[in-house]
Amino acid sequence: MADALVSPLELRGDAVLIRPDGSEMSGGALHRLSGRIANVLTEAGVQPGDRVAMQTEKSAEALALYLACLRTGALFLPLNTAYTTAELNYFLGDAEPRVAVCAPAAEATLRPVAEAMGITLLTLDGAATGTLVERAAEAPEEFTTVARRSDDLAAILYTSGTTGRSKGAMLSHENLLSNADALVETWRFSAADTLLHALPIFHAHGLFVATNVLLRVGGRMIFLPKFDVDTVLAQLPRATAMMGVPTFFSRLLGDVRFTRELTGHMRLFISGSAPLLAETHRAFEARTGHRILERYGMSETTMSTSNPYDGGRRAGTVGFPLPGVELRVVDTESGVEVPQGEIGILEVRGPNVFKGYWRMPEKTAEEFREDGFFVTGDLARIDADGYITIVGRAKDLVISGGYNVYPKEVEGEIDRLEGVAESAVVGVPHADFGEGVVAIVVRESGSGLTAQEIQVALQDRLARFKQPKAIFFMGELPRNTMGKVQKNALREIFDDAFTEP
Ligand code: AMP
Repeated sequence: MADALVSPLELRGDAVLIRPDGSEMSGGALHRLSGRIANVLTEAGVQPGDRVAMQTEKSAEALALYLACLRTGALFLPLNTAYTTAELNYFLGDAEPRVAVCAPAAEATLRPVAEAMGITLLTLDGAATGTLVERAAEAPEEFTTVARRSDDLAAILYTSGTTGRSKGAMLSHENLLSNADALVETWRFSAADTLLHALPIFHAHGLFVATNVLLRVGGRMIFLPKFDVDTVLAQLPRATAMMGVPTFFSRLLGDVRFTRELTGHMRLFISGSAPLLAETHRAFEARTGHRILERYGMSETTMSTSNPYDGGRRAGTVGFPLPGVELRVVDTESGVEVPQGEIGILEVRGPNVFKGYWRMPEKTAEEFREDGFFVTGDLARIDADGYITIVGRAKDLVISGGYNVYPKEVEGEIDRLEGVAESAVVGVPHADFGEGVVAIVVRESGSGLTAQEIQVALQDRLARFKQPKAIFFMGELPRNTMGKVQKNALREIFDDAFTEP
C-alpha cells in the first residue's frame, strides 16, 4: 500500500496539506518527513508486524507517522485522544506496541507504564514539537520502504466497544487499498480535489476514508486540527469536497453565513459514521442546493455502502454496496436471509472486511459466518430498488412485552413533530414488560412542547407497544466525537425510569 499511497508523494512539489493559517506542506516534504520518522521507528527497533501506538492531537506530523508505519511495515494503532490513562494502559498492554507516541503532557504519567512494558515512548503535540520531531530532524530522510504482501496487516483500530473490552480490528493493506479504490471510483475523486478535512485521524473516517482517498488520487487536504464552524466557513472557498459526521452539517446549517453562494463551487459533501437525519439532508439541500451523499461503514469493514454519485442520493438511506462488496440481511436468530423489505442483521463480505480481532480468536469466530460473511451487528432493511437503510445497532433494539421496537422508527415519528429538534429512544428495565420504551427529546429552542402532547401525537402513528412509556427532555443528546448518540449513557441515566421510588 505504501507504493500506492506514499511513494507518489516523493515527486510532488505541490501542496498536499494546507494548514488553517494557509501554510502548505508539499508532497515531497511529507514524503521526506515520513522517511525520517520511519528511520526513527527502525532505530527504536520497530520491525514489520510490530505495533506503533499514537495518541496525539491531529497534525501533519501525526499523519507522517501513519505513512512511516506503512513504509516500515509496522501496524499503525491510533488511539482516541479522549481515552484516559486507565484506558491507555489497557490498549498498551493488549497491543504491546514497540513504540508509543503521546502528547507531551501525558508523558510523565505514561513513562512508568511504558518502561515496565519495554515500550519506547516518544512525544508529539499539535504544534509539531516533541521528541518524535526532534529525533526525526536528526534522522536521514532516505528510507527504503519495506515490501508488504496485500494480506499483511497495516493497522489496528480499537472499536468504541460499549460492552465488554474494546476489540482491536486488524486491517490489512488490501482492506485499506481496495476500499480507497472503491471510494475513488464511487465518489469520482481526482487530483483536482481539495478535501476540507476537519475529522480526527484516530478513526477510520478521517484516517482511511478521507486520507487514503486523497493520497490515492494525488489531491490535497485542508488539514484542520478539529471542526470549528468559523474555520470551516473561512476555508470552504478553497475546497472542492468535504467529509463529515452529521453534527458537522447540522452545525453549519445553524449558521446564517453558510449559504448557497458559499457552497456553490463545491463538488461534493459526504456524511457518515452516524445516521444523518433525513431532516438535515432536506434542510441542507434547501439551503445550499447540494444533496449530501451518505455512506455507511465501520472500523471492522471500512466502507461498505454509499449513495450513488449520479442519481438519487436518498435521504435516510446509505445507498448501495460499494464495488466488490456483498451484503445481505438475515434473520437475527436463524441467520437465514429475510424477505426483501424486512428488517434483519446486516452481513458483509468483501475485500474491505477485516482479518479479525487482535488476540481474540473466539470473538472473531463468533462474528463471522462459515461462508465468510461478517455479522455487523447493525439492523438494516433493503428496499425494492436496492437502497439500504440502517435501522440501528442490534444491541439497541428494545424488546418490550415480547415485541421488537426499533428505536429509529419511534425516533422518526417524534422528530416529525413540531417543536422537536431530535430524539433518542432506548429500552430500560420494566417490571411488566422486560424493557420499557423511553424517549429522550431535545426541543427546538423556544418550544414549550410537553411530554403529554408528544404522547397524544404518537397515539395514531405508532402501535401501542411502540409508544414511549416515559418521555424526558434534555438540552442536547450525549454524543461521542464521531457524532454517535451514546445510548449506553442514556440507558444509565434513565435506568430507573420504571422502578418504584
Ligand atoms: P465505527 O466502528 O466507530 O466506525 O462505528 C461503526 C458504526 O457506526 C456502524 O456499525 C453503524 O452502527 C454506525 N454508522 C456508521 N455510518 C452510519 C450511517 N451512515 N448511518 C447509520 N449508522 C452509521
